[in-house]
Amino acid sequence: MNIENLHVAIQGEEILKGLNLKIKAGEVHAIMGPNGAGKSTLASTLAGRESFEVLEGTVRYQDEDLLALDAHERAAKGIFLGFQYPTEIPGVSNLNFLRTALNAQRRQRGEAEMDGGTFMKLAREKAQNLGISIEMLKRFVNVGFSGGEKKRNEMMQMAVLNPTLAILDETDSGLDIDALKVVSDGINALRSADKAILLITHYQRLLDYVTPDHVHVLADGKIVRSGGPELAHELEEKGYQAVA
Ligand code: ADP
Ligand code: MG
Ligand code: MG
Repeated sequence: MNIENLHVAIQGEEILKGLNLKIKAGEVHAIMGPNGAGKSTLASTLAGRESFEVLEGTVRYQDEDLLALDAHERAAKGIFLGFQYPTEIPGVSNLNFLRTALNAQRRQRGEAEMDGGTFMKLAREKAQNLGISIEMLKRFVNVGFSGGEKKRNEMMQMAVLNPTLAILDETDSGLDIDALKVVSDGINALRSADKAILLITHYQRLLDYVTPDHVHVLADGKIVRSGGPELAHELEEKGYQAVA
């Protein structure tokens, strides 16, 4: 993915102010930054989740103009957005939700829907890797789930949809150590030469479990510094003011 000079406004106010970022397949990038810097605005803009106003700039992904695609088309291209507060969907079982999402992605790609048997095999395999019971798969999506279970479930969604670009927006916030392990195991399991991962985080803690290739500081709508994993430690020690 290649983001060039991205300017995005929300309700007439410019939030992203000329952001540049290049993420290659196989790489894990972490974006860190103070509250209100525009991190979630970037995540939503990339996933096409909200129609923020793009004032200027381009985003290319797999040789296409990403910004010209709607959210479903982006999902079909393999973009996954996970975020801080997973949504509860009363009345829809986890299994139905996963199968519907997977088949929607396949239809968009012009592929045949996955039959029930093949889907169940896939779901069982991924659930087992994540320590999710079949009973939990049958429950309504995230309804009554603990914080840790919601995270496990989010990692399940990610594993089933098998994205080529996973964007995780503060998915680590407020997690206890066990839930943090679930998230980092899920991310590390996805890590491979053909996949890119963008971790947005306020804290360095997650990066003790998932070592990024590149770390960036987003402040006031721009990437103001980039470095290796050591930059995350520097931020933790000195704070954003000193580093950015
Ligand atoms: P971060 O994720 O880095 O904390 P955000 O991208 O959420 O920052 O927010 C950047 C700025 O945009 C903040 O000033 C925030 O108040 C504003 N903002 C974000 N979302 C909205 C929205 N839906 N409506 C109005 N303002 C918003
Ligand atoms: Mg915020
Ligand atoms: Mg945010």
